[in-house]
Amino acid sequence: MTISIDATHLADVTDFLQGCEKVVGSPNVLTNAADKSAFLTDQRQRFTGAAIAVVKPGNTAEVAAIVKLCNQFKVPLVPQGGNTGLVLGSVPDSRGNAIVLSLARLNQVRAIDPINHTITVEAGCILQNVQEAAFAADRLLPLSLAAEGSCTIGGNLATNAGGTAVLRYGNTRELCLGLEVVTAQGDIMHGLRGLRKDNTGYDLRDLFIGAEGTLGIITAAVMKIFPLPKAQLTALVALQTPDQALQLLTLAQGRCGAALTGFELMSDLCLQLVAKHMPQLTFPFSAHYPYYVLMEISDSESEAHASNLLEAVLAMALEEDICQDAVLATSSAQSKTLWQLRESISSAQAKEGKNIKHDVSIPISRIAEFISVTDGLLQQQFPGCRNVTFGHLGDGNLHYNVSPAIGASVEAFLDQQTAINLVVHDSVHAFGGSISAEHGIGSLKREELLRYKSAVEMQLMRTIKQALDPLNLMNPGKVI
Ligand code: FAD
Repeated sequence: MTISIDATHLADVTDFLQGCEKVVGSPNVLTNAADKSAFLTDQRQRFTGAAIAVVKPGNTAEVAAIVKLCNQFKVPLVPQGGNTGLVLGSVPDSRGNAIVLSLARLNQVRAIDPINHTITVEAGCILQNVQEAAFAADRLLPLSLAAEGSCTIGGNLATNAGGTAVLRYGNTRELCLGLEVVTAQGDIMHGLRGLRKDNTGYDLRDLFIGAEGTLGIITAAVMKIFPLPKAQLTALVALQTPDQALQLLTLAQGRCGAALTGFELMSDLCLQLVAKHMPQLTFPFSAHYPYYVLMEISDSESEAHASNLLEAVLAMALEEDICQDAVLATSSAQSKTLWQLRESISSAQAKEGKNIKHDVSIPISRIAEFISVTDGLLQQQFPGCRNVTFGHLGDGNLHYNVSPAIGASVEAFLDQQTAINLVVHDSVHAFGGSISAEHGIGSLKREELLRYKSAVEMQLMRTIKQALDPLNLMNPGKVI
């Protein structure tokens, strides 16, 4: 698309870009279309925005100086980490008046304190690199998600990412002790404190976590790390119903306590799609069952101890008729293979064709009823549509995805997206749930948020936004 810029504006833009180049050096101000393109399109290739430039500061002081320039020239900015976000939060809109502020060059691990169990990292550090740095110090950074090879800690914090170990360790918010933030005015908030207790007024840190870059720019963080478990063992369990999965969860939590670190639900269609599109992955059962649970325990004693614990849970589940069959991984290689089945669902569903995704959370005790009621509502209104239901059951978080009926027109199905979202999200709301469990709001769910969040909550959010970013320069058009 073309952007119309009048002569005065053009002079301003030139001055602004020269100012940026002075701060970060001209190689770090990308203005030509080819250099900018990867930063302007979202991860799922659904939307391409426009920007004056992509600016890549190398440290916190440079971020602050760029934000001050944005204030001076009234240029909006869109913070970007790994650009793996799923709700169109990290790409600019199509007006072309903003910059993308890439945090990729802020990629240093500043400190590791194994006694305080903390790691201090810059926002642009790739999650996997931080996991590896913690591992090198004999510690575990438990935050883990399928995008960990390219998402950044700053993006994880800004979206309050979840992932596969929330059940035991909490989401990113719970893993963060302190933040360094560049405010919307370009001031630096020095909050890199590694304290477990700090009751000194309003919790500013928690305001910036989950704000998706609408209140300030996270430049560094103190994250919690943990002793490395001695063993991690996984089992895949076959079940008839989601209700049995809930019974198994209660049983496993009772027996394993904090050792239970993963509890993932998958419907049979999920694994059928994986088998169809990734035939190299082995399906471990001789028959198919309606649902499966992937369960993981982390043990601080030994592999033998972990194995005994998991075997005891599975034996009890079989005895009490909670599950139909189970396979227990006896090595980490086997565990990895089982996790591969779970982690391949999204790609398998993408290979099957376009679909409509929902990232919802429901009170755990009501999940089975939610699935049954919502599946029924969808079948009534969109006969034959296929539910690809999976997710972090232990956290009450479902990826409740819907694919078109076999043989149906994909275009006609996608035209019904708003109606399908309405059925699913109204049902989520009726069950006391949330329309965004872990991916955030971005611009994708901004309008829907108005339907489900109370007027008072929306007003408080607007008041906070107005107080912290009165010029509306920080990721405008996202969240609220
Ligand atoms: P980006 O996509 O670059 O940005 C995300 C948002 O944060 C944007 O609004 C952006 O403006 C803002 N932002 C980025 N950096 C900063 C900063 N330093 N300061 C302020 N704001 C900033 N998410 C989950 O929660 N759980 C999962 O299990 C999960 N699995 C995924 C699997 C795949 C295959 C993919 C592609 C994505 C998955 N995601 C998941 C979504 C995504 O990976 C997360 O939202 C991740 O936290 C985004 O990090 P990022 O660095 O890519 O951020």
